[in-house]
Amino acid sequence: MPRAYFHFLTGLLLLAGVASAFWAPAAVAGTRIHSVRLWPAEAYTRVTFESNTGIRSTLFSVEHPDRLVLDLEGVELGPPLETMARNLKADDPYIKGIRVGRFKPGVLRVVFDLKTRVKASTSLLDPVATYGYRLVLDIYPETPADPLMALLESHQAAVTTPQGPDTPQAVESAPPPAPPAVSEGAGVAPALEAPIATAAATLPSSGAPEPSLNVAPSSLKPRNLQQRIIIAVDAGHGGEDPGAHGRGGTYEKRVTLSIARRLKAKIDAQPNLRAVLIRDGDYFIPLQGRTARARQLHADLFVSIHADAFINSDARGSSVFALSEKGATSVAARWLAKRENDADLIGGVNINAHETYLAQTLFDLSQTATINDSLKIARAVLGELGHVNALHKGEVEQAGFAVLKSPDIPSILVETAFITNPDEERRLNDTQYQDRLAEAILTGLQHYLAANPPLNKSRTVRSDLNGSRLAVFP
Ligand SMILES: [Zn+2]
Repeated sequence: MPRAYFHFLTGLLLLAGVASAFWAPAAVAGTRIHSVRLWPAEAYTRVTFESNTGIRSTLFSVEHPDRLVLDLEGVELGPPLETMARNLKADDPYIKGIRVGRFKPGVLRVVFDLKTRVKASTSLLDPVATYGYRLVLDIYPETPADPLMALLESHQAAVTTPQGPDTPQAVESAPPPAPPAVSEGAGVAPALEAPIATAAATLPSSGAPEPSLNVAPSSLKPRNLQQRIIIAVDAGHGGEDPGAHGRGGTYEKRVTLSIARRLKAKIDAQPNLRAVLIRDGDYFIPLQGRTARARQLHADLFVSIHADAFINSDARGSSVFALSEKGATSVAARWLAKRENDADLIGGVNINAHETYLAQTLFDLSQTATINDSLKIARAVLGELGHVNALHKGEVEQAGFAVLKSPDIPSILVETAFITNPDEERRLNDTQYQDRLAEAILTGLQHYLAANPPLNKSRTVRSDLNGSRLAVFP
């Protein structure tokens, strides 16, 4: 702990001690925070406070310099809070420093010094799976980046400076994890007593970000990309949601991201294809947010990458799934869809952070045709995966996977292998095997595209969207 911070905390605790003599009843604290986690990402940075009971909190912002202030009621100061600043990464896009201390009896104050102006909101999540109560603070850019613009720019760059396909560097392009850094701001005192009377800066309950946009019809796909088929590659899980894990300690969210990046590199090396990663870091995106992002990027196809799990470690093999309108094709498929759909509970959807995405009923008419295409893609990919791994079942299955519910984008979910099978877990960690899986998925997609050149059939549906409000996460 930086010395200045220590003295500051000591001073605060002394003050709190004095104060408690006058407000003793309010000083009784009962909520213990047993974990604080930071998930920095360009899309948004999430801070999770996990505790034994629900936390009452107040969030407001202060300017000059820009800060977020989070007051936690009845929370005891303990190691997870005292040390949270150490887990702040220097390259966090939004947070420059974190200071924690007792603000007044019964209220602990966390001050986030910001690098830029942001929008932010909190949400309280009930216990689920292995998690206790969670208070999540989500910090977004004030002006969300336009992913389509970013895609266009990267496309232009690729056109002007063609890169060798699928180089290891391209695949491993993720920034290395930054070393743990204690922000300089972490030890500086001035703002715990930041003026509460900043009513103008206080975030109203409706102060959640409004990451909405009007969706242009896909026929207006930017000219530079019109000759390209855009494939959305979705790495399952992420951030608070680790997905399944193997006995050897492998997390599904890491494997899926690695395979997704390899698949993107292979797709981008094709002259007529372009890939977009729905998730490109260790953070969580709600399932509907994934489909919304694919639509925002005018994706023609959507591939969600996962690794399967089962209580019996003998279960093995690759599977490919499509959406079902009428219920699952087997009990196992229904069970799997439920587990994958639970990602929203485990990853934690901040209900204050975004609005409903779209009235799904708008698209019901188009879903059947989309599912037929999805099945064709799934069969093509499953056939190719059969050259790389045993198949769990020889046929494509269907169930109500929320992430496949794009009414106008043919979508498949690939369970690459069983992470709970020790042999398959080992192979899932093998980068050469990840490459072979990615290659098989690409080949399957190409077989489908060769036999089914993309028509503009989905675009008429999408043109109905013109003017519809579509919230994109974040
Ligand atoms: Zn999964």
